[in-house]
Amino acid sequence: RAKEAGRNAIRFFTVEMDRQVQDRLEIEQELRQVLERGELSLAYQPQVDAGSGRVVGAEALLRWQHPRLGNVPPMRFIPLAEEIGLIGPIGEWVLREACTQARRWLEGGLGELRIAVNVSARQFHELDLAERIAAILEQTGLPAHLLELELTESMLMGDAERTEDMLHRLKRLGIGLALDDFGTGYSSFAYLRRFPIDTLKIDQSFVGAMVAGANAESIVAAIIAMAHSLQMRVVAEGVETAQQQRQLFQHGCDSMQGYLFGRPLPPEEFSALPLLRGQAG
Ligand code: C2E
Ligand code: MG
Ligand code: MG
Ligand code: MG
Repeated sequence: RAKEAGRNAIRFFTVEMDRQVQDRLEIEQELRQVLERGELSLAYQPQVDAGSGRVVGAEALLRWQHPRLGNVPPMRFIPLAEEIGLIGPIGEWVLREACTQARRWLEGGLGELRIAVNVSARQFHELDLAERIAAILEQTGLPAHLLELELTESMLMGDAERTEDMLHRLKRLGIGLALDDFGTGYSSFAYLRRFPIDTLKIDQSFVGAMVAGANAESIVAAIIAMAHSLQMRVVAEGVETAQQQRQLFQHGCDSMQGYLFGRPLPPEEFSALPLLRGQAG
């Protein structure tokens, strides 16, 4: 009996693995055509000023509406796109789309909204990223200071000399640079001081843990103080409750992003947000 159960378990396991491999292969095949098929879109999540509550910008988040699988989350296809060498064209599409949208909002009287765009490791290490972005800003007519790239700590580690050079090339365009998911990777104080980073985004895991105990709250307070001492702006991610908002505000956090203020939304819904109204003109 035990033997049979074992065999069944193995059979189940194999079937399950086959299915996963099948799924992955299918996703991979379809990912190659995703741009031509027009299945990608961007959702925009508001970033609000901590003091006034006004929307000051948005993070562009990639969405893939798959005909059969439905909404495929970015964490499921972006690493794959990196692996199979498709992140270049996809990343370029994201940048162009986000800049086009931000320019539309500017023209439409929504004011100067800063658009934050996530960049993958592979994309960051392409030597011509700065030139590509320069071309996109030129084509879309978006003022450079309204674009902010979100990078992660792991991208900046390694060859500090080369990283510094890449970051300065980007800075020379006049765009902003943000460090995403801060606190989840390794970055030394020395690197933070050395690199031209404008914004630090506190990872949502710290924000989420604040309710539970004083520990996370003092970490958050320390991160904010440190960032300000380096003249960086601080954005808190994943703000879900009014209590978190109060705590962050007390510690001097500059901007906030999270479900409390708004989910990632399609552009039409974003521009109807109440916190945007009155900002026109
Ligand atoms: P991220 O850049 O840290 O983005 C924040 C993620 O947290 C988003 O997940 C957002 O929907 C989610 N989020 C926002 N507010 C809250 C909240 O209050 N509570 C909770 N629980 N979650 C919240 P999403 O859209 O699934 O994106 C996941 C990750 O995928 C992003 O993390 C980013 O690393 C990556 N990603 C998304 N779009 C792109 C893109 O265009 N290019 C690249 N390279 N990566 C992207
Ligand atoms: Mg991000
Ligand atoms: Mg993040
Ligand atoms: Mg994250």
